[in-house]
Amino acid sequence: MAKDYYGILGVHKDATADDIKRAYRKLARQYHPDVNPDPEAQDRFKEINAAYEVLSDDHKRQIVDLGGDPLAPGGGGMGGGPGAGGPFVGFQDIMDAFFGGASARGPRPRVRPGADAIIRLDLELQETAFGVEAPLTVDTAVLCSTCSGAGTAAGTHPVTCDICHGKGEVQSVQRTFLGQVVSTRPCAACQGFGTTIPHPCATCGGEGRVRTRRTLTVKIPAGVEDGMRIRLAQQGEVGPGGGQPGDLYVEIHERPHDVFARKGNDLHCKVTVPMTAAALGTRLTIKTLDTEEQVDVKAGTQAGATVRIKGRGVPHLRGSARGDLFVHLDVRTPTKITPEQERMLREFAKSRGEEMAELAKQTGGFFSSLRNAFNGH
Ligand SMILES: [Zn+2]
Ligand SMILES: [Zn+2]
Repeated sequence: MAKDYYGILGVHKDATADDIKRAYRKLARQYHPDVNPDPEAQDRFKEINAAYEVLSDDHKRQIVDLGGDPLAPGGGGMGGGPGAGGPFVGFQDIMDAFFGGASARGPRPRVRPGADAIIRLDLELQETAFGVEAPLTVDTAVLCSTCSGAGTAAGTHPVTCDICHGKGEVQSVQRTFLGQVVSTRPCAACQGFGTTIPHPCATCGGEGRVRTRRTLTVKIPAGVEDGMRIRLAQQGEVGPGGGQPGDLYVEIHERPHDVFARKGNDLHCKVTVPMTAAALGTRLTIKTLDTEEQVDVKAGTQAGATVRIKGRGVPHLRGSARGDLFVHLDVRTPTKITPEQERMLREFAKSRGEEMAELAKQTGGFFSSLRNAFNGH
């Protein structure tokens, strides 16, 4: 006669999975050997666990519903899973019964993913603008080539930890005023792995990875900006136990340029024009990042005027467009003049009726150029 698994948990035949879990938790709390040392309670606890093992598994529950017993020897057990017939359902369920937690427990894996790494790369404006292939020396953990990440000496294997028997954690029972409390902590003998390595690889000491300095080439695309990061997939740290490497981020640092200041994709430079050339007009040759351009300074150019050279800035990171180059004209007034030059200038001023400075009107001149300066024109 098959066991009455529903009766043991005290649930109805059409109970939901949640109902079954709730009933199991309630009973497990009541009959757990740590709480109830009575030998009869221990037997009852085993029964409760067995019932839960059967009823929480759709396949096994179906066998019960058809009048069979999945835990009876040969009793319709079609490939009973691990622990079938055992006294415990699973460590997790018992922990859940007591702490209601759902966090993953058990031994932690030896193989874990590696961390990302970051490296700074200093570049000239020419390089950020037009791209470059730069050699990078990186210092990261790489896979141990002696053991290929296993951490064991050749021909040896990790063994199950004697202290925690592979669980990776140990339990202790404490008496408190609330009753007995079971606490769990990582096993110190195996650091929670559940296994120990009796003969570690001599190269990596069992880590499965070693720190190495290596050189790789990174292709920097045209148009990158200061502070940008370029991701090199899986070039970061190899994880413990030879786990999948993290990514390597190359952080761009652009060195200041002697002549050009960069604002986004535009470049700015300053050219000093003598007062006379500004008044009469002139032609300048500007060496841009990659060309030489002729710039016309119109007669009557004022201090602070700007000439824009289209498409001579920095290429856009995406697309083929380029920023512009702004040439800021700085009109220079002569400071040291000969008596002869002074005489000519006085003559010139007299002919223009400009012997005295005039107070500028609020709306124009000085104030508007002041405003323009604030607005960055
Ligand atoms: Zn090794
Ligand atoms: Zn252990």
